[in-house]
Amino acid sequence: MTPTLAFHGAARTVTGSKHLLSLGNAQVLIDCGMFQGTKELKERNWQPFPFMPSDLDAVVITHAHLDHIGMLPRLVREGLKCPIYATAPTISLSRISLTDSGRLQEEEARFHSKHNLRHDAKPLYDENDAFEAMRKFKPVPFNTRHELPGGGSWVYKHAGHILGSAYAEIALPNGEILLMSGDLGRYDTPIIKDPEVVDYCDYLVIESTYGDRLHSKEDPLIKLEQALQWAWSSGGTILIPSFAIGRTQEMLYYFKKLQESGRMPRVPVYIDSPMATSVTKVYADAKDDHDDEMKLSVSEGSSELEPLGLNYIRDREQSQALNKQHGPQVIIAGSGMANGGRILHHMRHRISSDQTMVLFTGYQAEGTLGRQLIDGEPVVKIFGEEVAVRAKVDKINALSAHADQGEILHWLSFFKSPPKKTFIVHGEPKAQEALAAKIKDLYNWEVVIPEQGQVEELGN
Ligand SMILES: [Zn+2]
Repeated sequence: MTPTLAFHGAARTVTGSKHLLSLGNAQVLIDCGMFQGTKELKERNWQPFPFMPSDLDAVVITHAHLDHIGMLPRLVREGLKCPIYATAPTISLSRISLTDSGRLQEEEARFHSKHNLRHDAKPLYDENDAFEAMRKFKPVPFNTRHELPGGGSWVYKHAGHILGSAYAEIALPNGEILLMSGDLGRYDTPIIKDPEVVDYCDYLVIESTYGDRLHSKEDPLIKLEQALQWAWSSGGTILIPSFAIGRTQEMLYYFKKLQESGRMPRVPVYIDSPMATSVTKVYADAKDDHDDEMKLSVSEGSSELEPLGLNYIRDREQSQALNKQHGPQVIIAGSGMANGGRILHHMRHRISSDQTMVLFTGYQAEGTLGRQLIDGEPVVKIFGEEVAVRAKVDKINALSAHADQGEILHWLSFFKSPPKKTFIVHGEPKAQEALAAKIKDLYNWEVVIPEQGQVEELGN
């Protein structure tokens, strides 16, 4: 029987990655992500899976972001029997983010029933479901071939996106190769290894988050140094909204770099995020997945993730105590787009003061508080209250965990022959179309942008 690939998520949108590979009687699910963003997208998480979880024979995970793993607890609760395969660091990070997600779902359900928004408010899944899902995980090392039911096999290769991130290079029963890119990272990202070179596959599924854009070439160290100088000379506080996985560790790395070159004043740095604290430990411990620079610094007994003056804030009392503290200081907390998390408390307390700088470290989506601040809104709502913005607002432009258009095209340039078909997923339609046009233009490959639910035959 001809293998088929069904696109059940991240089709003409960025989130919800779910790809079902049918190999004869065997069913392999690649990623099981949550839809995130608009209400319409989130609603999709409540719809029945377009397959029976109990019918699956293997689940292969590319990396630990929720838009790739966030529905695993529901999948397990609804009868998944087979193992969930992932790299060891992905499993460690999944344990942190899935349990956190379970708690958030419970909180959201409580909020809905308390405010009578939905009388029957139930969480999508709870923390216990997340723990149950963790029991199904089985670690698979990089660059080691592993059998799949149905006569296929796959190898994980470094994707350079976040710690543990991989592409899955799947050998179909007839020997043809299907390459699932997962999320494609960037060259020279600190701490983790670069994306591995691939020069052949028959079918390619590639992400396109930044398919229509190029990242800024701005040096993040210069921007950070200027912010720290301002805090030092004015006694100000820098608030850095930051994602717990990847971005926070990158920021610690940059602080350390500035210190090593004598460019960082003695400004204390507070990480006010239990999740980021746990993730940083996973990053520091995952020695096999460090790039050469990180390996060297670890072998010399120092850590690129431990700048002097770093303090971890664990409990709420400590977090509140920061309110009484004057600068100079840096407070890093989630979430990265300031649409939740402890950063909101710090913002409510400090954003009306010109002694504060809010320094964003990534993309700010439409509708988030982060976007309103970047757009220069003079008054914003935090916890339902209107607050005047007198803080400086700035952004380090160059940081991203995703390859931009140029980096994707560069990665494709190593292919010795064109894939039979290239499927573009995980992007807004505008980004997908721009990338498709570039690939056709430069390489003349056959490109498909699948619709949600589309099924493609992988065969001659
Ligand atoms: Zn990702």
